[in-house]
Amino acid sequence: MAHDPIYVTKSYLPPLEEYQRLVAEVYASHVLTNNGPLHKRLEHALRERLEAPHLLLMSNGTLAIQLALRALKVSGKVITTPFSYVATTSALLWEGCEPVFVDVRPDTLCIDASLIEAAITPDTTAILATHVYGIPCDVEAIDAIARKHGLKVIYDAAHAFDVRYKGRPITAYGDASTLSFHATKLFHTVEGGATIVHTPEAEHDMRLLRSFGHIHDDHFSLGMNAKLSEMHAAMGLAVLPHVEHIIAQRREVCTMYDEAFVDLPIEGVMIPEGTAWNYAYYPVLFRNGSERKRVFDHLSAEGIVARRYFYPSLNTLPYVTSDPMPVSEDLADRVLCLPLFAGMSIQECGRVRSALLSAFANGLG
Ligand SMILES: *Cc1c(COP(=O)(O)O)cnc(C)c1O
Repeated sequence: MAHDPIYVTKSYLPPLEEYQRLVAEVYASHVLTNNGPLHKRLEHALRERLEAPHLLLMSNGTLAIQLALRALKVSGKVITTPFSYVATTSALLWEGCEPVFVDVRPDTLCIDASLIEAAITPDTTAILATHVYGIPCDVEAIDAIARKHGLKVIYDAAHAFDVRYKGRPITAYGDASTLSFHATKLFHTVEGGATIVHTPEAEHDMRLLRSFGHIHDDHFSLGMNAKLSEMHAAMGLAVLPHVEHIIAQRREVCTMYDEAFVDLPIEGVMIPEGTAWNYAYYPVLFRNGSERKRVFDHLSAEGIVARRYFYPSLNTLPYVTSDPMPVSEDLADRVLCLPLFAGMSIQECGRVRSALLSAFANGLG
């Protein structure tokens, strides 16, 4: 096979001159980290763009969750989703919280809000839910349940950069939202992330947590090092002006896939009404796990590397205890994400399309 493999995603690289121009500023300022000028500029730009006056940059999306849990004083049992990347669960465990899984909706793959109340006990302090693939959770229902029971709400919005719901940024909901700017995400800083909180007090606490708990010689709280460097901020500033274009190109690929696959026995996910989505992933649900496996193998043989986002269902991790989560476990068995990235060529798109069509033409199912 003469073709290069096509991976599930390909990091966006801005024009080199644009990155170099920003790195030259770092050389000129001689400030490499610790809230430098580019860090300030990126934080400001993201605050404007995401309408989030209390957004703080973080060194990655995992610490963004962990420090949000700390700032909001979350402890004990936390209701969470089993269908997400492992960091959603590991962040809880690392902070000494106990994840209590609540199954997901089969259409949006986000936590099923109608099952949350039955899982609340006197030890429950918070809900940590993921807008999986950038699809909004039932934020209104979740926020209402949380208010009624005095729980904090944190949304893992690692996939949801620029997503809007009912006219507001999705990150406006809940007590805090966290973003990941990892190289594989739609908007990235190579490694990086952000926490969005909604009060000056929470921002103040987050700022201390991010940087060793002190301001100059005055020490206030236990802190961590979760700072983003100037080199990372430079990448973010170079990528940010291209986000519209990145989303538009992803939308084109998704439309092409949608049209090509209408007659196949596969399902997509439901994007709730009122969502301005960001086309972060192209998940496909097969009829069963063996079909998913056969398609995966067929695609691999054609040099197409789909990924099992998200497998395993997090309630089955070897280091947690949980009731079975039948919907999430079934979805994790049947799902594949197809290659989707900005700059994907017509030829690459065509190869994925032909490979999936031929997998079924070859008598699968
Ligand atoms: C990527 C991701 C994270 C972790 O982000 P990092 O920046 O890689 O630490 C957390 N949650 C979800 C849902 C993710 O996809």
